Amino acid sequence: NSAVGAHLTVPEQAFKPKLGGYKNLPVVSHFLDDSVHEENTKPRLVVIGSGWGAVSVLEQLEKDDYNVTLISENNYFLFTPLLPSATVGTLEMRSLLEPIRKITDRMKAHFLQVTAKDVDFDSKLVEVTDPATGKDFYVPYDKLVIAVGATSMTHGVEGLENTFQLKTIQDAIKIRRQVLENLEVAALPTTPPEERKRLLSFVVCGGGPTGVEFAAELFDTLNEDLVRWFPKVLREDVSVTIIQSRDHILNTFDTSISDYAEKKFDREKIKIVTNARVKKIDEHSVHYTVKNAGDPSNPETQQLPYGFCLWSTGISMTPFARNISEKLEAQKHQRALVTDGTLKLKGIPDGSVYAIGDCATIENPKMLSHIMDICEAADKNKDGSLTFDEFVEAGQYMCRRFPLATTHLSKMSDLFKKYDVDNSGTLEIDELRVLLTDLDKKTTNLPATAQVANQQGKYLGKSISRIAKASRQGVSEDQVVQPFAYHHLGSLAYLGNTAVGEFSWGYKMVGGLWALYLWRSVYWSEQVSLRTRLNLSIDWTKGAIWGRDLSAI
Ligand code: FAD
Repeated sequence: NSAVGAHLTVPEQAFKPKLGGYKNLPVVSHFLDDSVHEENTKPRLVVIGSGWGAVSVLEQLEKDDYNVTLISENNYFLFTPLLPSATVGTLEMRSLLEPIRKITDRMKAHFLQVTAKDVDFDSKLVEVTDPATGKDFYVPYDKLVIAVGATSMTHGVEGLENTFQLKTIQDAIKIRRQVLENLEVAALPTTPPEERKRLLSFVVCGGGPTGVEFAAELFDTLNEDLVRWFPKVLREDVSVTIIQSRDHILNTFDTSISDYAEKKFDREKIKIVTNARVKKIDEHSVHYTVKNAGDPSNPETQQLPYGFCLWSTGISMTPFARNISEKLEAQKHQRALVTDGTLKLKGIPDGSVYAIGDCATIENPKMLSHIMDICEAADKNKDGSLTFDEFVEAGQYMCRRFPLATTHLSKMSDLFKKYDVDNSGTLEIDELRVLLTDLDKKTTNLPATAQVANQQGKYLGKSISRIAKASRQGVSEDQVVQPFAYHHLGSLAYLGNTAVGEFSWGYKMVGGLWALYLWRSVYWSEQVSLRTRLNLSIDWTKGAIWGRDLSAI
């Protein structure tokens, strides 16, 4: 085959595809950049995804242990924490992307830009499809890592097709275009005042970090660039509203942080509607109900006209993950792919499949009984009740033992106040048993963050390399693999020319210009390449000198 070239030693028969699996589709038996394939005795490791989890697996693998193939529908890694900055032109889209082939090349791994559709677990084949041609084929594996992330949660709300989401780079491109288009149409002298108001009504459904960071970026743009480059009169008509179902925004952070964020937004006239449930989004209005303090069983119905609406209210399984969960008995009726403590997918007897990141959850370790043991141990004088210090001690111990509970440590004083209804300064352990059932439910899932996906990926990369070595030396896998332990380093959120954050050593960062620089430094240092670091530095410098790029392309 002259196209292959004399320097490659790919045998002719390698190009004649074998058929396999329950659908009798072609099975990949070679790669164009690989001179050794079928004869290769190294186990085949297939990783699905090119996000935080998948890339971290690759970075930790020992190069020669596996024949690695990465499958993803995108040929880049996206640095999601800075995505809100790209929606308004603070950062350029390309500054957040690293071509995946640069990463796979470092690891001598193969890359296939295809979409995973299904897995034939019996024959160990991943069914993929090439979206360009619609052709399906199989990729064989000995070990499989599923790191496909998640999609947005719909909560069954009608009319979400009228909203924008912020998960992918394409979403950011669409948002940037729409926001600028709204500003331009609003600036036309022919636009009636009512319509101008509607076009400039920006609504964010969801008060978590993504919704809040987007609102902050948007507000910065409207405040800094709109007043500079558009007719000043437009500023009067602009409104930004966050609709949140809980009683605070950023409710996974400490209350001092969500209070700060709410006060800052209030000063800046970003309206926050809490305890609200969005019911329907029609072409021009968001319909929602708000808790009625006087009559909780009878919520008030409200309607808010919008010109742009972002839907950012949590995550749900991708079609591929759902497909897998439906075909395995052990996975049925779950909200994510369930794994054991070593991140192996439940329901695969030979333990050859792993799931990490946003698409996965570690099986509930049934913490409640442990929590009660810990509370009883913390009760020094054995009077059946805990003082605040004893309660915190129990909480800290729990967090060390069960990393799943870590994110709730900062809430200890809130919890104490909440449970101490009679303000006695102590909590009865028997009453706690009932109340903590609620906490137990919340702590079964690790947060869906890049931090978790990254730590799981690194852990898995190391463990599967150890497994390869152990198998060569005839040592059992159990002797070389410890369960995954999550170490929460902290959380950060951008709030518009400042940032907030809480760190694992207990420090809380609440505002100030230096917080903005700390926030930028953290994400700058977390970049996967020098190229993207340089791009970020250039974008921030350009923005400081000339403002944001407001061209809608
Ligand atoms: P992802 O990073 O989403 O990667 C999934 C990959 O799988 C993608 O490459 C996708 O193309 C690919 N894929 C999906 N389905 C298929 C398929 N069927 N076939 C082939 N490939 C497929 N976390 C933080 O810790 N800090 C933050 O500040 C932060 N900010 C965020 C801001 C935004 C706007 C968003 C959207 C998320 C943010 N997160 C943040 C969360 C973080 O991005 C996710 O938790 C993280 O990306 C999860 O990593 P993952 O590897 O599981 O999935």
